[in-house]
Amino acid sequence: MYTGGCLCGSIRFEIEGPIRNIVYCHCSQCRKAQGSAFATNGIVRSSDFKILSGQDQLTGYESSPGQTKYFCKTCGSPIMSKAESRPEQVRVRLGTIESDIEERPMAHIFATSKANWEEITGDLPQYESYEPGRNTLQQPLGAGCQAPTSTEGGR
Ligand SMILES: [Zn+2]
Ligand SMILES: [Zn+2]
Repeated sequence: MYTGGCLCGSIRFEIEGPIRNIVYCHCSQCRKAQGSAFATNGIVRSSDFKILSGQDQLTGYESSPGQTKYFCKTCGSPIMSKAESRPEQVRVRLGTIESDIEERPMAHIFATSKANWEEITGDLPQYESYEPGRNTLQQPLGAGCQAPTSTEGGR
């Protein structure tokens, strides 16, 4: 059981099940949504993700067709995203979880879209797009995160 919440404390949630496919996403959408070099997201079954309080504070932005990022309307903390095509799962922003997390990140994705000032270090695999096996778990390729374009893609 994991618990977490937004910065101002109005949204509180708990997660009962495991967190799968934890990745560092360096795509340009995630960088903007987090205001940082990357987002750290993991997949949780929708039935395992429960909002305990502050449901009315949760608001969404459809960043790609059928893909909505949910955040706190008071403090702006990014909480999770949902894809219409995969209602059975949510992608949680791991920084909002307060418990110690047992699972570990498995990869850097959209690594070639990374900020030019960022240096990716460590031994985790780096992928140009989604991690292998994502299609069986996640929304179709191209939804959710922004694929590299000719105007980005690192150095
Ligand atoms: Zn808040
Ligand atoms: Zn992304």
